[in-house]
Parts: sequence; C-alpha cells; structure tokens
Amino acid sequence: MNHVVVVGAGLAGVRSAEALRARGFQGNITLIGEESHRPYDRPPLSKAVLLGEADSSRWESDLDAMNVRHRAGVAAKGLREGTVETTEGEILYDGLVIATGATPIRLRGEGDQQVLRTIDDALRLRSRFGPGVRLVVVGAGWIGAEVATAARRAGCEVTVVEAGQAPLSVALGAEAGAHTAPWYAAAGIDLVLGERVASVDPGGVTLASGRTLHADVVVTGVGVRPAVGWLAGSGLTIEDGVVTDEHLATSLPGVVAVGDCAAWWSRRFQARLRVEHWDSALNAPEVAAATLLGEDAVYDPVPYFWSEQFGRMVQYAGYHVGARLVRRGDPERDPKWALCWLTGDDRLAALLTVDRPRDLVQGRRIVESGQRLDVDRITDPSITLRDC
Ligand code: FAD
Repeated sequence: MNHVVVVGAGLAGVRSAEALRARGFQGNITLIGEESHRPYDRPPLSKAVLLGEADSSRWESDLDAMNVRHRAGVAAKGLREGTVETTEGEILYDGLVIATGATPIRLRGEGDQQVLRTIDDALRLRSRFGPGVRLVVVGAGWIGAEVATAARRAGCEVTVVEAGQAPLSVALGAEAGAHTAPWYAAAGIDLVLGERVASVDPGGVTLASGRTLHADVVVTGVGVRPAVGWLAGSGLTIEDGVVTDEHLATSLPGVVAVGDCAAWWSRRFQARLRVEHWDSALNAPEVAAATLLGEDAVYDPVPYFWSEQFGRMVQYAGYHVGARLVRRGDPERDPKWALCWLTGDDRLAALLTVDRPRDLVQGRRIVESGQRLDVDRITDPSITLRDC
C-alpha cells in the first residue's frame, strides 16, 4: 500500500494518521478536511471555550513530523473505486479512511439559529453571550445542557425547550433523564418540556402549540446526522452512517470508517452501533489502521461518554437498550448518585454516574467482564460497585 487518504481532519481522522504511522506504515498519507483549521478537539468547545477559559482546543499532533500531508479547506465530493473526488480535483488512493464525522441538524424557519460543532461556531456563540441576553436553547440533550450551563454562567436569561418529557430523554430515556431536570431550575433556567419547536423565526421561536418564545439568540441542539452525503453513488453500504464490520472495514475493499460517521458491528452487544463519542474517535482508529494494513483487529469497546453540566461530571458507559433501570443513591437527595441498567439476568449493561468517577471506572470494567451483580447491593452507594 503506497498511499492512504484520510477524509475528515477531526479527531478520528488525525488519530487514523497517527495510528498508521505508529504501526510502521511508511507510504504517503494525505489528510483532507473541509475546515480551514489545524485539527482540534471538540469537547472543549462547549466547555472551556464557551466558558471563556480557552480560545482554542488544538489537537497536539505534529503532522509535519509524521510526514502527513494535511490539505485544509478541501472537501471530498464523491468516491469511486480508488479515487476521491474533491473540491481541488481527484486524489488516488490504495487505502481510504472515512472520518467525516457528523453535521448538526437545523430546524425550519427564517430566523438566525446557531449550532455548535466547530471552533468558529463556539467563538461566534460565545461573543453573543452576556448579562440579560435572552437565549433559547432547542434540545435538552448533552450539547443543550452544556450550552445552557455556559450561557447562564455568562448571565444570559436561558430557556431550554425539549420535545421529550425529560432532559436527555433521547440518549437515556425519560425515566433516567428526569433526574437531571431539577438542575435546570437550580441554575435559574426555564426548562420547557414536551414542547416541539415548529420554527425558528426572527426574534425567537414558535412552538408547535402556537406559543412564542422571544430570544436574542437561538441555539439549535437537536442532534446530528452522519456526514456521508458525499458518498452517495459510491457503492458503500450506508445506513445511519457508513456500515462497517467489527474490523471497521466497509463494504468496499481497502476502505475503513471511524468516528461519528461509522456504524460498526459490535460483537459484545450483538448490535450495530454508531456513537458520537470522543472515546470512539480516539480509539477506533487503532483498529481501522490495523485493518487497512492487513492485521486482524477487532473494535469491541464498551462505549464511554462524559458531559460537564451545571457543575457536575456526568459519565456514561455501556449500551442500555432493553435493560432495566436501578438507582444507586437517591438523585433527589444525594449530590452524587448513579443509575445502573441491568439485563434480565442481572448483568450490568450500562451505567450513568454523577460525580462518582470510581463507579464509572469500575462499572465499565464490570460491563466488559459480563459478571452478574447483586441488585440489592447495587442500590446501596456505600458498597463499592466492584463488590456488588
Ligand atoms: P468530527 O470531529 O466531526 O470531524 C470530522 C471532520 O470531517 C470535520 O472537521 C468536518 O469538517 C470534516 N468533513 C466532513 N465532511 C467532509 C468532507 N466531505 N470532506 C472533507 N472533510 C469533511 N464527546 C464526549 O464523549 N464527551 C464530550 O464531552 C463531548 N463534547 C462535545 C462537545 C461538542 C461541542 C461537540 C461538537 C462534540 C462533543 N463530543 C463529546 C463528541 C466528540 O467530540 C465527537 O464524537 C468527535 O469529535 C467525533 O470525531 P470525528 O473525527 O468522528 O468527527
């Protein structure tokens, strides 16, 4: 293999280039990305950058020293076997890594709506924060909660509108997410639940119920879609992302996919997973690089995600679909608590922890090991999780 092209210069893309070099690949690597910036990290955008504690979040990787040719401001437009069509002409490849991430969903309407995906988005949004600024955040998901946290800290008057019956209901289910609802009121944020935004209009949003909320700034945080439009007609199998096997190989030879755009087969959970998690963008490229180089590697993690909201560290590990919920501690009374999802035979499928990092680390290992737990002991937060 002489030339690997990596499309997408986000975390998964740059980590793919690093992993190829770390495995001894000495051929050419071209990293193309439509953003004009050097690769940077996204989690700080909704935390340190929005909070005004940092102005950038550059990923410290010396692409020149690794002999990686980074073509910034170049977008892939199409793919046919052995050729990536870009805005700057065609690039031939022997191996291809697809790492184009995801794009925020926007709502209908003529009003100005901000999204938060890029460093430019974060700096623009931050510049609009200030005391008394009326901010409507659409969506009480992970991003919405972090934006609300930072905006409130900057003195904005914040309203968060969520179509579900609780914050985080898409990610965690309404029963679990409801435990975070009191955090909004405590932070002085107006949380509107069970209301859908019909349109973003000049000066605010109109809800499906007909109610109008006035706003100086509207932030849309209702999720993302995998950025795979450029792959139409390529012959790749696409179903909510680029479909891969457990080796991260796609349906085309010599093509792998990683990060937010990849939907891989999880041997552990016997399901196709596509997660929008930093941990996956960080680690999946090791397996993708090995696969490209003909090694036998399998990507089979227990997915992990964290969020920093309202002064709390919220962490999640596992895959909870179909599992039952057990509380560990009392979210109404204890500042630190956890939720555990258990399978029918009392194995830990997933857990969510609030300021309980030790539970998270132990719980992730327990999910990995598949060991059974004593449900009565789990509910007692004074018992170490690994002793349950
Ligand atoms: P991306 O980072 O999206 O990179 C993809 C790159 O490809 C982009 O630069 C894009 O411009 C480029 N691209 C797209 N299409 C093309 C094309 N056709 N041609 C060329 N280039 C293209 N995860 C956590 O676990 N915890 C957190 O606290 C957390 N916070 C986050 C906060 C924010 C504000 C955001 C946006 C994400 C956060 N995440 C968090 C998620 C995490 O950052 C992502 O999972 C991770 O960045 C995905 O990396 P990626 O490389 O797959 O995609």
